[in-house]
Amino acid sequence: MTSQAKVTDTYDVVVVGSGAGALTAAIFAADRGMSVLIVEKSDKYGGTSALSGGGIWVPNNHYFKAKGGQDSFEQALTYLKASVGDQVDEARLRAYLDNAPKMMQYLQENTRLNYTVAERYPDYYQHLPGAAPGGRTLDPELFDTTALGEEVENLQPASPTTLLMGKIAWTARHAHKAMARERGWRLLLVWLMLRYKLDFKQRRKTRRDRRAALGNALIASLRASLMDRNVPLWLNTDFSELVQNDEGRVTGLIVKRNGQEQLINVRQGVILGSGGFEQNQALRDRYLPKPTRVEWSATPPGRNTGAALEAGQAIGAATAMLDWAWWAPTISVPKEEKARGVFAERAFPGAIVVNGEGKRFVNEAVGYLEFVDEMYRDNIKTNGKTVPAWVIFDAHFRFNYAMGPLMPAQVMPDSRMPKSWHKSVYWKADSLEALAAEIGVDAKGLKHTVERVNGFAATGNDEDFQRGGNVFDRYYGDSNVKPNPCLAPIKKGPFYAMRLDAGDIGTKGGLLTNEKGCVVREDGREIKGLYAIGNCSASVMGTVYPGAGATLGPAMTFAYIAINDLAQQKADQKVSA
Ligand code: FAD
Repeated sequence: MTSQAKVTDTYDVVVVGSGAGALTAAIFAADRGMSVLIVEKSDKYGGTSALSGGGIWVPNNHYFKAKGGQDSFEQALTYLKASVGDQVDEARLRAYLDNAPKMMQYLQENTRLNYTVAERYPDYYQHLPGAAPGGRTLDPELFDTTALGEEVENLQPASPTTLLMGKIAWTARHAHKAMARERGWRLLLVWLMLRYKLDFKQRRKTRRDRRAALGNALIASLRASLMDRNVPLWLNTDFSELVQNDEGRVTGLIVKRNGQEQLINVRQGVILGSGGFEQNQALRDRYLPKPTRVEWSATPPGRNTGAALEAGQAIGAATAMLDWAWWAPTISVPKEEKARGVFAERAFPGAIVVNGEGKRFVNEAVGYLEFVDEMYRDNIKTNGKTVPAWVIFDAHFRFNYAMGPLMPAQVMPDSRMPKSWHKSVYWKADSLEALAAEIGVDAKGLKHTVERVNGFAATGNDEDFQRGGNVFDRYYGDSNVKPNPCLAPIKKGPFYAMRLDAGDIGTKGGLLTNEKGCVVREDGREIKGLYAIGNCSASVMGTVYPGAGATLGPAMTFAYIAINDLAQQKADQKVSA
């Protein structure tokens, strides 16, 4: 330990990082009567959480029940056990399912958080027992950032990919309606645009929407709730080391604040919520499958570099699943600081994804984690021809649907796209053969694949990968397309291709914790006073992604669990004193 560090402060609890889990921990700590400090490395709070969709996966929640929905702890446990398998202790799965609904109900009733249930958003593995066709994902409503006052300047700005036309706030409900082209979608877009434009007071000041949406709404509402409680948040404060007493209990941490090294003492515990290691190329090279690049991650550059992992390892913490990430295919766009995740568009009818041999290798509509997992598997089979992969579509698709940064041509024709995007974001040719030559994909293979898929589009039956064969695939299909909303022919030139990298939205492995969120050693003993939540901990979801919100949900839930554990310890100490 750096013993020269100046002792600056003592708190009951110090929370490292300012993502959704970290801020949730701070709220619960404050409400349980503990003094609490949040330390955040960057000059903005919110981390990847602030760029996210803000969806939280909470089976058996009170929102769905209030609307007459059916779910139960047992059904959700059946599903989690079937999807996660035996990679994770059942005690942790149970702790999650038991506490997630309680955590959300408390936040809804006692803070500024405002969520609603996505009644029709299906779990990702519809073939497994206990899967629900909807009702387990909770989505944020828009949040008026006026409540943050000047603190709004320090809020990590939303990613343009999560905003309508890169600037207008909309909810997940709105986005889905527009993307799936449900009745009234055009009117909805006009209304959202007008509302933004007619907010004259805000427009005179800034391009930023007054309303925060999705993950930005989640973080803004949590931060505003912390301001209500006078909880301090130190920006530009980089955590590096944990400090222990002679019994091995964590009693403090070393941070560098504005360049000055400091020791902060803790009476109760440290909650690590500083994200994964996706922004650290050396750690990616050490742990993740190859090839892997920092630039393919859809997370904020330079932030989550694995500080918690390294500090935990330095004091003997066990780790798990370090070779896994929350995979998502991504597209890099010139001048944008991070890659864009391609989450939903792969399900739209008329786009397929091929490897360098021109062959499909996956049901394009599967969840994003499985999609990239299949990329890596196929990359081994093809000797390196599947990373990157290529999404292929025709002029009909281009006119009607978005793909990554390309808005439908009816809104954004090729002539209005930045010139630098041609041959960096998209490739275009009059024939499939010419397109294949441009992107270095086998032309015969591509032609054969397209003919085969065009046949499937006519019958509605994808004989190779069963795309559109379940309610999850069809959620992002086009309900106007028959017989299969996820399948349409590719036949009208010009033809387009876009490059998909093996990206991520954060890493998934990290410090191993128990059902209390406490970090453990290899032999299972707790490191007292040390908790890990979010992507710096090994995910309670194992190597799978059971439903939308399965990363934020556990981060926030284990924050609640960890603080309850600390509060219990504090109460026990009082009794024995
Ligand atoms: P973060 O939210 O990244 O927070 C970590 C914080 O710690 C950062 O602010 C970072 O600067 C700080 N930090 C790092 N190192 C240090 C240090 N040494 N000292 C102090 N601070 C430090 N997940 C869902 O569940 N639902 C969704 O709808 C969803 N949508 C997504 C959409 C997109 C486009 C993306 C990119 C991701 C999405 N995700 C979603 C994934 C989700 O956002 C992340 O898994 C989650 O935010 C990780 O939370 P975290 O608290 O672990 O990390």
